[in-house]
Amino acid sequence: MKTFDAIIVGAGFAGMYMLHRLRGLGLSARVLEAGDGVGGTWYWNRYPGARCDVQSMDYSFSFSDELQQEWEWSEKYATQPELLRYANHVADRFDLRRDIQFGTRVARAAYDETTARWHIETASGETFAARFYIMATGCLSVPKEIDIPGAESFAGATYHTADWPRDGVDFSGQRVAVIGTGSSAIQSIPIIASQAADLTVFQRTPAFSLPAFNRPLDAEEVRSWKAHYAEHREKSRYSLFGVPDFPMDKSAHDVAPAERTATYEAGWSGGTLIALLQSYNDLLTDEAANETAAEFVRNKIRAIVDDPEVAETLCPKSFPIGAKRLCLDTNYYATYNQPHVHLVDVRKTPIEAITPQGIRTSDGEREFDAIVFATGFDAMTGAVVNVDIRGRDGLGLKDKWEAGPRTYLGLTVAGFPNLFLITGPGSPSVMSNMIISIEQHVEWISDCLSWMREHGHAVIEAESAAEDGWVAHVNEVADATLLPKANSWYMGANVPGKPRVFMPYIGGCGPYRQQCEKVVAEGYSGFRFADEDALALPASAG
Ligand code: NAP
Repeated sequence: MKTFDAIIVGAGFAGMYMLHRLRGLGLSARVLEAGDGVGGTWYWNRYPGARCDVQSMDYSFSFSDELQQEWEWSEKYATQPELLRYANHVADRFDLRRDIQFGTRVARAAYDETTARWHIETASGETFAARFYIMATGCLSVPKEIDIPGAESFAGATYHTADWPRDGVDFSGQRVAVIGTGSSAIQSIPIIASQAADLTVFQRTPAFSLPAFNRPLDAEEVRSWKAHYAEHREKSRYSLFGVPDFPMDKSAHDVAPAERTATYEAGWSGGTLIALLQSYNDLLTDEAANETAAEFVRNKIRAIVDDPEVAETLCPKSFPIGAKRLCLDTNYYATYNQPHVHLVDVRKTPIEAITPQGIRTSDGEREFDAIVFATGFDAMTGAVVNVDIRGRDGLGLKDKWEAGPRTYLGLTVAGFPNLFLITGPGSPSVMSNMIISIEQHVEWISDCLSWMREHGHAVIEAESAAEDGWVAHVNEVADATLLPKANSWYMGANVPGKPRVFMPYIGGCGPYRQQCEKVVAEGYSGFRFADEDALALPASAG
């Protein structure tokens, strides 16, 4: 058995930065990564058109000024290959690879109370022991199971956007089906349409998508951005979504319709996820206000798509705008104006089965050479509970989370000493620029370990009462918004049988960061500690 101070699972941005920080503390750490390269999301999601939907200049590490000054992004929204090059650059620049073990999938992790150590076992039977066990497994890393009968019978090629072949796929001359219309589908459909002889999109729920207005970055813009990086990053850290906020001092009801439309027009033209949503301060809390923005976007869809029936099918009407993750696209809606691109509304004509030749819906069978599943992820909890994690008294994390994830601050779990989650459920994570949230969590964890060492503590565990209070707060904040009204993956609603609980923290990056800072200022309130010479934790106060 190999022994380290910390085992980190995952070599995406979270795992890489965690390793870098732990090294800085002089701790020994090993990253275990299932893939054979770094990059996490950007390692796996290689589908055509994959890009970040937060501007590249924001969607990058801020912890090293040298790194952010030297790296050159070529476009407003970087492509997957460029993001993967960046991840590899970070790995090389900070010499991370020597502590990353690739091709290693963690199967089990159990806490041993007598030694206060985690015992970790990989799928191939290799074992490790570590004082700290850190899950840096990402929020969208386990593809949802294909729940359509007959999927395995299809004679043609099948692809999942989240597990795309390395060498790419050329759909030239092929009849292609895409199932799903979330962010992955919306980014890939225009590119697939440009290759395929015929493309049919099977849509269950239309998504709201805004234009990215992607473009190359010009040198002057980059120079100016870099000159003000420190100030910009600080604004991002204390913002709602991890990028500087737009001022929101008015309700959508406070202005005349013409002014509101002009404001939405400016938001639409901004080419970002939040410009339109932050037009007014009540768009995510007031249904009537939200409807004004939703209708603005529907009218854009109606203006872009030539066939009024297709346009209406593409218009989302079953949930408030912003209650499901907004998408950012390049020519998505206009793609449906091409004669070889077809839309099937599977709410009207449900998919009955995948057959050897194609897809059968209630109105007949269509034949395809290839099917692309853009059907999403078992989000936020999937990757965590895929590992059999056992805490005190053999308690299984999967069992503890049976009715929905429970964490303290999205970072720790009562009953699981010395376990940390990076961007876990109950933290802003997917509601934010992930990199800003990853940095905050990694820094909080490394500062905590440093503090524990200074105070002679070997074990940290969240109090049950603190966890209960945090879970109640996460729910209360979510319930004050319109977000729980949608059947979204935020709610676990996309996975049959998954508990319906709003998983991320919607209170905003800045307010969340302040709560984490307050916990530290109060001497890690809500946590209990045990010292090296008395490893048993005192009884929980909760
Ligand atoms: P998703 O948003 O969950 O979309 C999955 C799509 O598949 C939905 O339209 C869903 O319909 C449909 N679907 C699922 N099962 C189906 C079935 N059995 N029959 C018919 N349709 C089915 O997944 P995603 O597009 O991969 O995106 C997930 C998240 O990853 C995004 O929300 C975003 O946070 C992130 N992402 C980001 C980017 C980026 O730009 N940086 C790109 C891709 C993904 P329902 O809505 O009816 O369930």
